[in-house]
Amino acid sequence: MPNRLYLSSPHLGENEQKYVQEAFDTNWVSPVGPNIDAFEKSIAVYADTGFVAALSSGTAAIHLALIMLGVERGDTVLCSSFTFAGSCNPIVYLGAEPVFVDSETATWNIDPELMEEAVKMLIAEGKRPKALILVHLYGMPAMINEVMEIAARYEIPVIEDAAEALGSRYQERALGTFGVMGVYSFNGNKIITTSGGGALVSDNESLINRARFLATQARDPAPHYEHTQIGYNYRLSNISAGIGRGQMEVLDERIAARRAIFRQYQEELQDIEDITFTEEPEGYFSNRWLTTILINPKSGITPEKIRIMLEEENIESRPLWKPMHLQPVFKDAKKVVNGVSESLFNTGLCLPSGSNSPQDRINQTIEMIKSVFK
Ligand SMILES: *Cc1c(COP(=O)(O)O)cnc(C)c1O
Repeated sequence: MPNRLYLSSPHLGENEQKYVQEAFDTNWVSPVGPNIDAFEKSIAVYADTGFVAALSSGTAAIHLALIMLGVERGDTVLCSSFTFAGSCNPIVYLGAEPVFVDSETATWNIDPELMEEAVKMLIAEGKRPKALILVHLYGMPAMINEVMEIAARYEIPVIEDAAEALGSRYQERALGTFGVMGVYSFNGNKIITTSGGGALVSDNESLINRARFLATQARDPAPHYEHTQIGYNYRLSNISAGIGRGQMEVLDERIAARRAIFRQYQEELQDIEDITFTEEPEGYFSNRWLTTILINPKSGITPEKIRIMLEEENIESRPLWKPMHLQPVFKDAKKVVNGVSESLFNTGLCLPSGSNSPQDRINQTIEMIKSVFK
C-alpha cells in the first residue's frame, strides 16, 4: 500500500526547528517568550493588522472574542450554518443561542439576504443578535461588502472566522481584518500549523490586550494572585510559537502550492461536465486551503462512491462540512435556510490539497476520478 495521501497534512519548512531549539536553549518554554512576540508580529505584518494575540486554538480565539463583545446567557449570535463546529461551539459555552444562516451559491458563505432576514426575525422577537460570526470557508472570502453593510446598518459587530482563510484576500485586503476582530487557526490540518494554535487579531489594541489578559487566567496586577473576573488558560506556548514563526516564513509558498494543486485539478477535470469548481469572483483571492468539487447528482455518481474508491488506494477525501443546522447537537437551534448548504453537503467532495502532496499521487487521484466518469 502506498503512503497515505492526506487531505491536508502539516508541511514544515527549514526554520521551525531552529526557533524551537532556541526556545529550549534559552529556556523560554512557557507561554511567554521571544517566539510568541515574533510570531504575533509576523502575523500583524502579514495581515497588515494592528494587534495580534497568539492563543491555544482558533476556537479559543472565537470564545474570547464573544466574551469581549459581551455575549451572555440568553443572547443570540448569528453564524454561518455551513462551517465546522469550532465556529459556533463557543456561542454555546457562553449559554448563548446560535442562529444559523444558510449560504449563497457563489462563495458558499453566509447569504447576505438571508442574514438580513435573520436579523429582522430576531429583532421582531426582541432578541437582537449580539454578534455575527462570519466564516470564510475553505479559504474563499464571503460576500464581505454586502455582509458588512448589513451588519453596520443593524449595528451588529462582526467576528471573522478566517480559520481556514489565512492569506486569502478580498479587494487586496487580508481576511480577518474586516470585522472588529478576526480569528486564525494553526491546527494541524490548516494551511500552516503550530501543531495546535490560533490567533485573535484586531486594529483595536485594548481588545487584544484584554484577550491576552483573559487568556492568562485574568490575573490582576499584584505580587500575589489577585482575580476580579473569570479567566482562561488559552495562551500559546513559546515552543508552538517557534513552529508558527517558521511557518509564517513559508506561508506564501504554501498558498502558491495549494493554488497550483487547485489549478491542476480544475484543468485536468474540466472536460467532465458533471464536475464543477468554485471560481473566485472579481476581487477575490482564495488561499485554496482545500480543493472542493461538486458532482452533478444526475450523473448517477455520488461523492461517496469516489471517496470509497480513493480510499482503496489510501487516498483521503472527505464530504464537505455538514451544515450546523443538520447536526443532531443543534437540532433545536434557530435557523434561516434555503437548502444551499444541504445541497452542497450532499454533492460535494474535498480532495487531497496538502502543499507537500507528492505529484504522482495527485496525478493518480485525478486519473481515478476521470475513470469513474468514463
Ligand atoms: C479549524 C476551524 C476552527 C477552529 O480552529 P481550531 O484551531 O481547530 O480550534 C474554527 N472555524 C473553522 C471554519 C475551522 O475550520
